[in-house]
Amino acid sequence: MYSIDLSGKTGLVMGVANQRSLAWGIAQPLAQAGARLAFSYQGERLKPTLEKLTAELSSPLLLEADVTDDASLDRLFEQVRAEFGKLDYLIHSVAFAPAVTFEKPFLETERADWITAMDVSAYSLVASARRAAPLMSEGGSIVTLSYLAAERVVPHYNMMGVAKAALEASVRYLAYDLGPKGVRVNAVSAGAVRTIAARSISGFADLYSAAGEMSMLKRNITQEEVGGLGLALLTDQLGGGITGETIYVDAGFHAIGLFLPKGSEG
Ligand code: NAP
Repeated sequence: MYSIDLSGKTGLVMGVANQRSLAWGIAQPLAQAGARLAFSYQGERLKPTLEKLTAELSSPLLLEADVTDDASLDRLFEQVRAEFGKLDYLIHSVAFAPAVTFEKPFLETERADWITAMDVSAYSLVASARRAAPLMSEGGSIVTLSYLAAERVVPHYNMMGVAKAALEASVRYLAYDLGPKGVRVNAVSAGAVRTIAARSISGFADLYSAAGEMSMLKRNITQEEVGGLGLALLTDQLGGGITGETIYVDAGFHAIGLFLPKGSEG
């Protein structure tokens, strides 16, 4: 039987808000394979949810951190170093853009909203990877979460699409810088999944059902499928040769060039 044993490995998971979070989908198989995990959350209000969610895991570490605050990130990685001594995996699953950027045309994007979206959704990967790298003394793997709007126009995504484009480019540059240290950096580009962040995007319900109907597999994807790809990219045993890559787990939606009107599919 092919099995993965991650005992002795450590990971930091950034961006679990609840049991539907994509980061939680990746954390579960990692923990089941034996990795010890730390979780960072933004604001004390999320702590009780995380405590409940992680109650079954072995000695999870719960740490507060706001990715827009350098001092907060310094504290986070220092706490990880003090407790774990080293880090093998970093899961970056954090994004935000002001609601107005999903509601108004992209043309009307204000400077401050652009900066906020880029800071939380793209620069935070660079800021986190920079602090994680010194802890990855035995090599390591970093995975972030992206979306098709980085490459194609998806109505409403606007500024988030631009931030995801910056995120995917950052993955390539970070992979180049960290490759010689044996640290791989990749993005999982997930199809639509009903999470808190997704539901706050205006028009998400329509986009979710359209993606399900139009994808090659004629369905939406699951959190477990995101978790499976995340696990593969994180572990050298499965994803060892992959770095600087964005891989889609979206039931084939991204690869379709033309959608035929209903009833005329060949
Ligand atoms: P989620 O459960 O709401 O997770 C988003 C996380 O980002 C939350 O934990 C949120 O914390 C955190 N966050 C936002 N601003 C932060 C900050 N300044 N500092 C620290 N954490 C912050 O939603 P999700 O869908 O799993 O999103 C995770 C990632 O997957 C995002 O990058 C998203 O763009 C990507 N993605 C999602 C989908 C989808 O359809 N769901 C598809 C493709 C890609 P708070 O709750 O405290 O704000």
